[in-house]
Amino acid sequence: MKLSWRVILLWTLPILVIGFFLWQGAFSTAPMPTGNNTASTRMTYGRFLDYLNQGRIMSVDLYEGGRTAIVEATDPELDGRIQRLRVDLPGNAPELISRLRQDHISFDVHPPRNDGAIWGLVGNLIFPILLIGGLFFLFRRSSNVPGGPGQAMSFGKSRARFMMEAKTGVMFDDVAGIEEAKEELQEVVSFLKKPERFTAVGAKIPKGVLLVGPPGTGKTLLAKAIAGEAGVPFFSISGSEFVEMFVGVGASRVRDLFKKAKENAPCIIFIDEIDAVGRQRGAGIGGGNDEREQTLNQLLTEMDGFEGNTGIIIIAATNRPDVLDSALLRPGRFDRQVTVDAPDIKGRLEVLKVHARNKKLDPSVSLEAIARRTPGFTGADLANLLNEAAILTARRRKDAITMLEIDDAVDRVVAGMEGTPLVDSKSKRLIAYHEVGHALVGTLLKDHDPVQKVTLIPRGQAQGLTWFTPNEEQGLISRAQLLARITGALGGRAAEQVIFGDAEVTTGAGGDLQQVTGMARQMVTRFGMSDLGPLSLESQQGEVFLGRDWMSRSDYSDEIAARIDAQVRSIAEHCYDQACKIIRENREVMDRLVDLLIEKETIDGEEFRQIVAEYTAVPEKEQYVPKL
Ligand code: ADP
Ligand code: ZN
Repeated sequence: MKLSWRVILLWTLPILVIGFFLWQGAFSTAPMPTGNNTASTRMTYGRFLDYLNQGRIMSVDLYEGGRTAIVEATDPELDGRIQRLRVDLPGNAPELISRLRQDHISFDVHPPRNDGAIWGLVGNLIFPILLIGGLFFLFRRSSNVPGGPGQAMSFGKSRARFMMEAKTGVMFDDVAGIEEAKEELQEVVSFLKKPERFTAVGAKIPKGVLLVGPPGTGKTLLAKAIAGEAGVPFFSISGSEFVEMFVGVGASRVRDLFKKAKENAPCIIFIDEIDAVGRQRGAGIGGGNDEREQTLNQLLTEMDGFEGNTGIIIIAATNRPDVLDSALLRPGRFDRQVTVDAPDIKGRLEVLKVHARNKKLDPSVSLEAIARRTPGFTGADLANLLNEAAILTARRRKDAITMLEIDDAVDRVVAGMEGTPLVDSKSKRLIAYHEVGHALVGTLLKDHDPVQKVTLIPRGQAQGLTWFTPNEEQGLISRAQLLARITGALGGRAAEQVIFGDAEVTTGAGGDLQQVTGMARQMVTRFGMSDLGPLSLESQQGEVFLGRDWMSRSDYSDEIAARIDAQVRSIAEHCYDQACKIIRENREVMDRLVDLLIEKETIDGEEFRQIVAEYTAVPEKEQYVPKL
């Protein structure tokens, strides 16, 4: 924990206060004489009065508001030696004082000693002070936990949440597979390096660039590479950091960020997840979010507030440009958009090359083969894949990564950690039939991707898995392909039902059914592949942007909605019937494959097809194999 001045002050202040009172107490009143040379002996009040009458009292010192006195008296029995005695008096007796004056006895009154009062005061204060101090201490501690209640204590400026890297050390060479985006951004590097070249001919340097693309495609990396290539500092913050509990905090963070950036210009400001702040104003259930809108306004003000030529370029990243406030996209703000997509096979190969640089690969490893096996992987997935493979290699105490580790790592990245296989049991048999059902239907449909392997080794949520080799060019998918996918996805449930009967079907098909419904619905509402005709009835699925999409969501009537549901149902039912038919007609080979699968845990695609081919004709599949 950082020991800030606040904590120090907090702890020293009460100590100082207490100390001050104690010190005051110690010096402001005369201490009542105690000790062995003083009045250790007591005398009764009656005796004192006797002594007074006998004229033996020399002096009286009154203490404690006149309730105690130290008396000096001569003792005739001891040759008139002076004795000091302590007397408890019955309250402050004014008569006593007049009597002393009468008798010309010297007396003195000492003001009441404050000790008791001081300790009372301290006693009263110490508890609240400790309590407040303790609470404050707790707050301070919990403020190190992000989102902890301590954030309430750290408004605005004192805790800037942006990061600054003077040198990112990332170069364009480290970013691979997104060549177009790189090319477009090359220009930004020139702006930063040689602004004169542009300003000389009257060109305005852009202020903002919006990088659009799914997570993990290298947007952050790209922004860092721009800073790295141009040799300028890199400021970064995530949009979600702006959105705070208190109104005004986000705006003050924006101000801070720009202030720091201006001091360090030329530089790059990178705002990740800008959609967290940049959503359309006034949208959202409950009439929008004041804090977010203030932050956004501040951001717009700051962007307008500096000249294009100060050398600050703001790069923002988002996956959802559609929800951004249009004010952000106006000229002079984020007027450039660069799309950063998941790489194609060539791109994947390039990314793999970048991340293989610092890894020890066995010569047998073919990066091309990995690139082929990983359609849809983003740059981050590929980086993660090679890292997992390296971890597995180290765990297996090998010197270099081999294809075996790569294969395992792919499975792990796609489907999660491997679990322990089930022992042979009825449920294992059912799972085996379910998986073989997927694989068999997939193999026998001409338009389905070929089986890569079937396995009963659990991974992540799944108890068993069937892997298909996806077609590389994911661009366009035909209706026949979609129907084949739906049928294949239903193959698992179909097998359960055909083999074990209605009563024995399991929850294992839940995920499959979800996929099926999604695909069928899109066929109807987006791709015009049903009897409803070539209509787009829904925009691309995604998280519903509450407040905007919600209101304008149904572009169609209830009647159409009912017809959509009917079409979706008819597609799913048609495919299910087909899957059941394939299972029934191939029962014999199915039983054999299930026995083999339970014995071996995994059957690879080639072997699977050979066995099926002994019983029935396996259609030839067209697989597009891209060149590398
Ligand atoms: P995003 O910002 O798009 O979510 P990141 O830039 O944070 O993605 O990517 C995370 C990591 O994935 C990077 O640090 C890098 O290791 C790797 N990576 C992602 N895309 C690429 C790419 N195109 N080339 C090389 N590495 C990449
Ligand atoms: Zn399944």
